[in-house]
Amino acid sequence: MSQQRKESELTQLNTLLDKQAKHMEVRAKRDPLTGAFNREGVEESLVEPLNEWHVSAKRLSIVLLDLDHFKQMNDTYGHAAGDKVLVELSTLITSNIRSSDRFARWGGEEFLLVCRDSELKETTSLAEKLRGLIEEHAFHGSAQVTASFGVASINVDENLEGLFKRADEALYEAKRTSRNRVVASEG
Ligand code: GH3
Ligand code: MG
Ligand code: MG
Repeated sequence: MSQQRKESELTQLNTLLDKQAKHMEVRAKRDPLTGAFNREGVEESLVEPLNEWHVSAKRLSIVLLDLDHFKQMNDTYGHAAGDKVLVELSTLITSNIRSSDRFARWGGEEFLLVCRDSELKETTSLAEKLRGLIEEHAFHGSAQVTASFGVASINVDENLEGLFKRADEALYEAKRTSRNRVVASEG
């Protein structure tokens, strides 16, 4: 084999390895079932808006959403049908948010939406829109699906932990007061 050919093959191999490494990197940030970002993938979407908020007061808001009575749905229609609901829900949500919003599976049947440069009011409207879309969507192989939402916008001198705690409390409040609801943290 000529030296030139060897070099060209080596270059091709390196390109392939680079592509594979990038592919693995992308996969590592995604939830394998739904294709939504996982916790690691969502972290980077929080750091930059947090810095922006400190320097230019561009508000960062988050939405936590949790499917209602999902255990019961699994028990009635089966785990595979439950999985399909999670996949369909992710598609429904990702096709109804802005490209700057980041959607992630936070765990189990709980999801997180990170909305950079967004005030509480507009983020609550978005959550309300998504709540309605889920309620109206005909999911394959299962009965009506609903979700509860907790919304919070970052306050001056607040850290991410505080922001998540308030969103979590708002979500808990939505669960406590009938579910299929959006609650915004005014704190
Ligand atoms: P609530 O309205 O209070 O949120 O009730 P819930 O039943 O949704 O909540 P609970 O936390 O009791 O149960 C969550 C269920 O979600 C139980 C678990 O089996 C199911 N679940 C979590 N991850 C998955 C998954 O990947 N696939 C399926 N099919 N089910 C899952
Ligand atoms: Mg639930
Ligand atoms: Mg849950």
